[in-house]
Amino acid sequence: MRIIIILRKEKILPLIALSTVLAALLLCSILYRVIPARSRLGQTTVVIDPGHGGIDGGTQDRAGHLEKDINLDIAHKIRAQLVQCGINVVMTREDDIELAPYQPGRSGRHRRDLTARIERARNAKALFLVSIHCDWSTAAERRGMVAFYYYRNPVGKTLASSIQEELNKIQPRPQKAVPGKYFLLEQPGINGVIVEVGFLSNPEEAALLRQPDYQEKIALAIARGILRAIPAVTAQPGAVPAPPP
Ligand SMILES: [Zn+2]
Repeated sequence: MRIIIILRKEKILPLIALSTVLAALLLCSILYRVIPARSRLGQTTVVIDPGHGGIDGGTQDRAGHLEKDINLDIAHKIRAQLVQCGINVVMTREDDIELAPYQPGRSGRHRRDLTARIERARNAKALFLVSIHCDWSTAAERRGMVAFYYYRNPVGKTLASSIQEELNKIQPRPQKAVPGKYFLLEQPGINGVIVEVGFLSNPEEAALLRQPDYQEKIALAIARGILRAIPAVTAQPGAVPAPPP
């Protein structure tokens, strides 16, 4: 039997606000259970990197919705979750901008853009750099969220596994964190992870990725993965932040 309760609009809005506050409190209480040293949180800086931006749209779905916009929406939501739990968060971009402008006659804009993101993480003395992207495949049925790490960086691997574990709770088919060859992740002094949050080539997943509620679920999972990784990596000798060259 189903009981359907119809609420008037003026009663629904406070309920939505209340449930948002309760969700945030629940997240922080979960985190405090998994993080024994609360004081560490305020000293921890995490860089969230919404992939692409400005003249670089990234990939896109069939309707032309661009990866850069979805990445930015999810990144803002991750930041909100982490800030509520006392983490210092630095974003590589807050708006729809590229980090290195196109210069006529000069090549390598993409590499300069990535280098600017790496510099921001270094300057912030970030424990983690978490880069948000959407994937694309010629096989339209492909879908799912995967965290990538640099195989020579054990901190990156721990972070990727922790994020993957949380993402697996909200996706139908569990995936494994995967070692990947990315310029962004191979840099000394960077404990980076690239999270591919889904395939824009899959119409169903592309539609989900544009929904604020679904973006919020992804953001919450990534935030939980980041926060659960902090005690694990700060216990690793020499982990902050000195991966092998
Ligand atoms: Zn991308």
